[in-house]
Amino acid sequence: MKYLISVIILLTGFHANAQNEDSILISKIADEVLIRGTAYENLRNLTKKVGARLTASPGYYKAETWGQQALRDAGADKVYLQECTVPHWVRGGKDEARYYAGNDTKGKSLDVLALGNSQGTGPKGISAPVILINSFEELESRKDEVKGKIVFYNYKFNPRFVLTFQSYSDAVRYRGQGAARASRYGAVAVLLRSMTHAADNNPHTGGMNYNDSFPKIPALAVGIQDADKLATAITSSNTVKLFLKSNAKMLADTIAHNVIGELTGTEFPEQIITVGGHLDSWDPAEGAHDDGAGCVHSIEVLRALKAIGYRPKRTIRVVLFANEENGLKGGTKYAEEAKSKNEQHIFALESDAGGFTPRSFGFSMSKERIEKVRTWLPLFAPYLVWQFSEGGGGADIGPLNRTFGTPVAGLQPDSQRYFDIHHARSDVFEAVNKRELELGALNMAALIYLVDKYGL
Ligand SMILES: [Zn+2]
Repeated sequence: MKYLISVIILLTGFHANAQNEDSILISKIADEVLIRGTAYENLRNLTKKVGARLTASPGYYKAETWGQQALRDAGADKVYLQECTVPHWVRGGKDEARYYAGNDTKGKSLDVLALGNSQGTGPKGISAPVILINSFEELESRKDEVKGKIVFYNYKFNPRFVLTFQSYSDAVRYRGQGAARASRYGAVAVLLRSMTHAADNNPHTGGMNYNDSFPKIPALAVGIQDADKLATAITSSNTVKLFLKSNAKMLADTIAHNVIGELTGTEFPEQIITVGGHLDSWDPAEGAHDDGAGCVHSIEVLRALKAIGYRPKRTIRVVLFANEENGLKGGTKYAEEAKSKNEQHIFALESDAGGFTPRSFGFSMSKERIEKVRTWLPLFAPYLVWQFSEGGGGADIGPLNRTFGTPVAGLQPDSQRYFDIHHARSDVFEAVNKRELELGALNMAALIYLVDKYGL
């Protein structure tokens, strides 16, 4: 028996030996983040003291100051701003909607939010008959009925997809292109069912685009309970009128900044590892999960590595990107500058899927590199990441990947609750769990450590 135990210890010791050093270092990172972590308090400051931070709003510039201070406090060797030109969209006050079915002259109000980048209705609002459209296919088949009406897109978040990001990418085209496609057939405005499985009635905003060939018509999102009521009213009465009011408008482009902090590499300082999230957020909420979590995750990566005395071989650069939500100008600028300075970007990691329990990292890189990182997977199991999947990254590091072919990855937390709060007023600090947030940061720090140590 004694002999057998010694053999087991010997054998397991032998297998573990290759990764022993790494598992010890990662457990130091874990202790640092779970015992002395600052991600949660950083997020409290960002959400409660800065709050909403739509690009070019006063909140955004306050967030730039917050980000620089947080990076200095985390121990960055260097903190600086990177200027970029950004769109300046404003909501301009409260959005309103009412519907009038049949002989109802009082109307019933709907909980709505104008979509980001949309044009408002003007102070008097718009009244028009509404047409219920469940899909783009239906829009095409009924295009002759659309003229002079408000198109109500009632396309539902598909519950069949297990991962909610799939439901989102399936539905988001209605938000992005819905107004342009309806305007083409003479619609005067669009109202859009919110992209969520949530049980509540909060409307979910988000970016949209116009097509310059067609009029820029107002576009608003409605909460899903109200969307159901409106759809029922339309199917049970053939005369439903809708009143919409939004003061939204696009102002002239202006200046904002990516906020950057670095730990300079000791051996290959010219090789850059980027880790980031986006600093901007939608205006109706605090942007706690989207993407305050990604910002504090990234800052915590730097802080934890520094705090345990790890000296990176390569330069670890934390980037809090500007303008992800309604223009992607921060991520675009970051790649442009990298190109003009001829920088060497070996890897980029983004956290922009919320501060929930981490499940996986998704990688967009060559098969060989994915095979290589998969040998590290056992090191992550104690911290609840069981899977490295193919495909992933983040909107802000996309331009880097497209410009240089830089390998990229994204943190993939559990996604079931993310679209309950995404771009809605419920995306507040209280919706974030401290432990779940910390687990995201520690897994990210472990991945950055391994990429720094072994390269790709
Ligand atoms: Zn986001």
